[in-house]
Amino acid sequence: METKETKVLAGAHTSAAGGVFNALLEGQSIAATTIQFFTSNQKQWAGRPLSDETVDAWKRAKDTSGIEVTMSHDSYLINLGCPDEENLFKSRKAFKEEIERCHALDVTYLNFHPGAALKESREACLDKIVESLLELEGVVAKGKTRLLLEMTAGQGSSVGCTFEEVGYIIDRVKDRLPVGVCIDTCHIFVAGYDIRTPEGWETTLQSFDQAIGLSHLYAMHLNDSAKGLGSRVDRHSFLGQGMIGLPCFETVMRHPSLRHLPKYLETPGGPPQWIEELKLLRSYYDKGPSR
Ligand SMILES: [Zn+2]
Ligand SMILES: [Zn+2]
Repeated sequence: METKETKVLAGAHTSAAGGVFNALLEGQSIAATTIQFFTSNQKQWAGRPLSDETVDAWKRAKDTSGIEVTMSHDSYLINLGCPDEENLFKSRKAFKEEIERCHALDVTYLNFHPGAALKESREACLDKIVESLLELEGVVAKGKTRLLLEMTAGQGSSVGCTFEEVGYIIDRVKDRLPVGVCIDTCHIFVAGYDIRTPEGWETTLQSFDQAIGLSHLYAMHLNDSAKGLGSRVDRHSFLGQGMIGLPCFETVMRHPSLRHLPKYLETPGGPPQWIEELKLLRSYYDKGPSR
């Protein structure tokens, strides 16, 4: 149960084009209280280390932005469960550099996609992800950033589309690393979890609690879905204009186990649309806890 009323933590994945501090400014321009962003070009292996000027500009912008919680999204190229040795090595190196950039910027959470099995079994992939994470224990310990495994849509061979798979990883690393989970509403819906109604959310949260433990849930991506329940196809839609519908988003803004979590829009419209969607989310939040 919620003991005290906290400020709503809602924002979007904002653009860091031209410098990471721009992600904060864009967040400020849409009245966000939290942002997700890329610390480097997400489509290139070699992430640039951040200069002192970049870090200073970030800190100055953060002080006046009203942004309280920050989350980085790792590069789409990284696969910590990759069966191929060369790409696994590249992935681990890139992920280590990502963690270091998060530490330099004092980023709260690093959201990452667990990995893809490709030609190997899902079990082997999960074990390789665990091994990759444990190998980074020393690096992670140097800062405060918590690593969040994002629930995936289960497209292709990507793992992490069931609470059991993510629970398997969390169980094996949680005593050595600060980890947690980020639920993406579009992803879990197309992975088969029916979150269209408050009752559906209750069932889903019970499964989450059994397989992972609700205390490990730290953040949410709020997206509607262009594709149907269980379709395993990841296409984000505007809130209320996809197959999930608005009751899902009202539930997450009011549910005692979910309303305090930082939430990020990754809907297609960009800043003008996000301003409206954030207004809607705040209006749900302001109705108070659902019980
Ligand atoms: Zn997402
Ligand atoms: Zn997605």
